[in-house]
Formats: sequence, structure tokens, C-alpha cells
Amino acid sequence: MLRIYNSLSKKKEEFIPNDPSHIKFYACGPTVYNKIHIGNARAFMSADLLAKVLKGIYSKVTYVCNITDIDDKIIDAAKEENLSIKDISTKYFNQYQDDTALLGISKPDIQPFATDYIDDMITYIEKLIASDNAYEKDGNVLFRVSSFPNYGCLSDRKLEEHDSGSRVKVEDFKENPNDFTLWKPSLNEDPGWESPWGRGRPGWHLECSVMSESTLDIPFDIHSGGNDLKFPHHDNEIAQTCAFHGNDDPTSFAKYWVHNGFLNLEDEKMSKSLGNVVYIDQLLQNYKGNEVRLALLSTHYRQPIPWSEDLLDQSHNIYVKLQSAFKEYGVVDGKFHVNSKVAEILLDDLNTPLAIRTMQDLVANPDENIENEIATFKYIFEGSNQDLSLSDVQVNQINELVKERDDARNSGDYERADKIRDKLSKMNVSIKDVNGKTEWEIL
Ligand SMILES: [Zn+2]
Repeated sequence: MLRIYNSLSKKKEEFIPNDPSHIKFYACGPTVYNKIHIGNARAFMSADLLAKVLKGIYSKVTYVCNITDIDDKIIDAAKEENLSIKDISTKYFNQYQDDTALLGISKPDIQPFATDYIDDMITYIEKLIASDNAYEKDGNVLFRVSSFPNYGCLSDRKLEEHDSGSRVKVEDFKENPNDFTLWKPSLNEDPGWESPWGRGRPGWHLECSVMSESTLDIPFDIHSGGNDLKFPHHDNEIAQTCAFHGNDDPTSFAKYWVHNGFLNLEDEKMSKSLGNVVYIDQLLQNYKGNEVRLALLSTHYRQPIPWSEDLLDQSHNIYVKLQSAFKEYGVVDGKFHVNSKVAEILLDDLNTPLAIRTMQDLVANPDENIENEIATFKYIFEGSNQDLSLSDVQVNQINELVKERDDARNSGDYERADKIRDKLSKMNVSIKDVNGKTEWEIL
């Protein structure tokens, strides 16, 4: 029913799940060291689109998107902001949750954190060493790429291409410049875990192999990510997992590999005013989450998006027109109707630009199925009650403030209690004391 472009076979294929009663999908998630920008958001939006379509047609779908909470970039950010590693990763994880929620991106079913899987990663590495797929040198453990005959099968890179005329200096702990890190030593102040190779931390590629298999088992159906992750990240994941199981066939890990295109910030006006990188929180000062969502989905997920203010303004206009047309029909909730035209278009490799044009035509010339067409469109193109609902992070934050205020009042510190009430009111939260209990609501 669904056709999807598989980067592994390099063609559009009919999606035939390993087990239609349970679809398993893994997408590479963020490294939480900074706010997410619109280019990051495109990858999460593409994964969300695919997850929504899968959930529209199958009764049970497990969608996993990981959180990389240990990485050199996080260590650098912690030094720069003078915060602990934990504080940095928590801060930017919260921001990621809020920003994606405002874009109507649904939460994955499972969000594994890399640091919760360190023991599994160590066990994984031990087995790769035992099978001669990896080696240790000076506290580093490297994957020996020459040990995996299919290395580079996803990106179609051959090892020789990297070797010839390489100007990159090869670290002296590497047998071959292509060998990649499974484990690296941690310096004194850097975060680290005890391991058979000394105190250290895992390599990024390994995290995804371990977390995907731990949460979904292999083979799972779909692995996705941005085009830029094809090499080396995804080819390295395939090499590790296949070598770990002694099976050279990459489909023994994941059957379909789905990659989204880049986002090009071509608009000089925009890059000047926002400084080359466009963060989601900046965009949401001027546009609704659903408008940004529509702009991201107005290009086919595999094509590059030329991102500009014009695109956002067009999307704003389309959104407003569609909303007023939808109101006539009174369709409130989104639902995926498999037999609608909009669904049929999306089931053909997620053709969102054609789905948008078709919806515009349909509201101009409605047919008898118009309510189902609108419901299907809303299900995909509108976030779930994003304007009304709060993320868990926001709810937790409010609950904490309410508790702090209760504590302040109980200890007679009314000045502090009033300050917290003011802070809550700035967040549009109103509080009432009902029978000695504090209740709150969003205004
Ligand atoms: Zn990954």
C-alpha cells in the first residue's frame, strides 16, 4: 500500500514489513548541545511524517528516535556555557522537546538516551574485539572496516576511494584511516565510564546500533535520517551491527533506509537578519508552528528546500485560506482516511507538495468525500492541538513553580510566593486556592 524510496536499493519500493502486526521504525535523533535550527527540524519533520503515515495504515507502530546526550560537542558547549554536561544536555533536550512540539511533531514512542546504554555498548565492543572486527590501541577502540566486506554499501563508497591521495593525517592509533571510533579515552575532567580499555566514552555511531537493537530488535523495518548521515554514520551503523551478528546482509539490520534532503538557506535577507542559522524559536515569533510545518512539507522530503521568507509567507497564505475553507465543513479532528485522494498521494513516497496542491483544488471543487480529505490533510499537516496543549516539560515546570510557591507560603515567605505567582502569570498560568489546594489553568 505504501511505496517508499529505499536508499539501500536506490529505488522506490513497495513497503513490505517484516511483520505487518508490528511496524518498527528508528530515526536518528538530536545531539543535545544547542538549540535546533530549521535544517535539524526538517529531519525530525520528515521522520514524523513517515511515522504518522505508518500509524495511519498500521495498527501497531513503534517509532524510536534517540537522544545523544554524550558527545564532544556537548563537552565543548558545557565548557563554553560554564555548565555541567548534565545541565547542558537537559537544557537543550527540553528546548528540543518544546520546539518540536510547537511544530506539531509528535513525540516518538521511545526516546532512548545514549548514557542509559553504556553497559550495553561496552558489551557490544567486547564482542566486536573478540570477533576481530575491532581492536584496541592506547585506550581507543576502533572498528576495523576491512573486516566487513560490504562496508560502504549504503553510500556506495569503496574503501580505495578514501585511501588514494588522502591528505588527512592518520592518527597513529589507527591501522587504516577509515577505521572509526567505538570507544575513546576521557581526559580527567571529561565525562567517562570505566571500561576494559580504561575510563572513556562511546563513539557516536555505536550509540545508534546499540539503541536501535535494544529498543526494536533486529531486523526492524525502517531506519531514517538526513542525507548527511548516510556516510559515514549509517554505513558505520550497518558495519557494526552486521559484524556483531556475523551476517553481511545489511537488510538483516534494517530493511528500508529513508533519507531526507538538505535545507538551503538561500534567502540573503533572512540570513542577514537572523545570522545564517535560523532557529525554531526565532521563526515562531513571526509564524505559527503549523505555518512553518506547512513550509517544511511544501517540498518533497527527498528534495532540497530553498528556505526563504517568501516560502514562509506563501505557506502562511495557503494555511489561512485552507483554514477558512475547512471551517465551512466543520471538520475538527485529523484522521487518516486510506481511501482519500490525499492519502493515496502520500502513500506514494510521501508526496506532500502534491497533497497540498490537491487539497487546494479540492476545497475549490469539493467532491462528496471532502470531509475525509480534510481530516486526512489535518492529520498530516497540522500538529496535534499545538496551540492548546503544553509539552510535558512545560507542565513539569509549572508544577514545580506551584510547589515552590506552596512551600514559600507555608514557611510564611509571602513576598517570594507573590513573586512566583507573577512569574506564573507571565507564563499565562492562573492559580487558584481551592480548599487549601493550589489549582492552575492556562489562560
Ligand atoms: Zn544515528
